[in-house]
Amino acid sequence: AKSCGKNMYHFYTSDMNEKLLEKLEMENSLRHAVDREEFVVYYQPKINTNDKSIAGVEALVRWNHPTNGMIPPNMFIPLAEEMRLIVPMGQWVLRNACKQNQIWKSLGCTDMSVAVNISVIQIQQSDFVQSIIDILEETGMQPSSLELEITENIIMKDFEFTNKILHDLRKLGIRISLDDFGKGYSSLNYLRQLEIDILKIDKSFIDDLTKDHNEQAIVKSVIDMAHSMKMTVIAEGVETWEQFTSLKSLHCDKVQGYLFSRPLPVNEIEHMIEEQEKV
Ligand code: C2E
Ligand code: CA
Ligand code: CA
Ligand code: CA
Repeated sequence: AKSCGKNMYHFYTSDMNEKLLEKLEMENSLRHAVDREEFVVYYQPKINTNDKSIAGVEALVRWNHPTNGMIPPNMFIPLAEEMRLIVPMGQWVLRNACKQNQIWKSLGCTDMSVAVNISVIQIQQSDFVQSIIDILEETGMQPSSLELEITENIIMKDFEFTNKILHDLRKLGIRISLDDFGKGYSSLNYLRQLEIDILKIDKSFIDDLTKDHNEQAIVKSVIDMAHSMKMTVIAEGVETWEQFTSLKSLHCDKVQGYLFSRPLPVNEIEHMIEEQEKV
């Protein structure tokens, strides 16, 4: 039993080496992925609550790894942020989504919005706003059709700084959406001062919406409060008709979730949009 400690130590270090190796490998292939543009953008529709029409789409990135297949964003975005690869990757996603929107527009979908997720690392770049302007010009994308989704941690990092950037983006005509609202330490205090147009209620509130009266009261007051501040409200992670009906009765403007569609590759979302254009 005495030697156990020593063995444990050996076991532990080799395990750590393995982890380190794994991480280095992952870093390497992620760097390549950015160079080789191995990413794919999927789109999930946002649905208007009043008539169930498609209001727009959210771009969600996946990594199409040459041997491991489609890798979900939660598996590589934290590392991409740590390595700052999120900057070129985020630019790529944004450019791609804008180009795609222009294609849809040429097919007749003139009032579709496209939402793109933005990481805190991107906002911190001194040329962030300019890089957005460049992509808008390059793709011909109308700023009013673009939504940028940010999370609270972005704001908490440096409120004044971030709010100034949000202000500049809004002046361009871009809309700002606060993602995952209620998930973190959301303080209603700062919401009033914040330069945002859209509030996205986190899935965790929607999950218990139809089972829990407290949850329903919270969601109701969030929606009412956001409306009083002239914000649009969207609920994410809507999976049942019960949830949909409940959100509709609470005057939630839009919903997003598996009930209507999972995130889809371009050709499939295009099909869904076309079907709608027919009616
Ligand atoms: P998010 O922005 O909160 O996106 C919503 C996530 O919930 C997506 O996961 C979506 O597929 C999933 N989802 C949508 N509806 C439902 C539903 O009804 N039920 C359930 N269980 N899940 C639903 P996904 O695509 O795996 O993305 C995960 C996260 O990765 C995103 O969370 C976002 O934070 C991040 N992400 C994705 N694409 C990008 C990107 O281009 N840039 C950055 N910075 N982050 C991204
Ligand atoms: Ca999002
Ligand atoms: Ca979210
Ligand atoms: Ca989320």
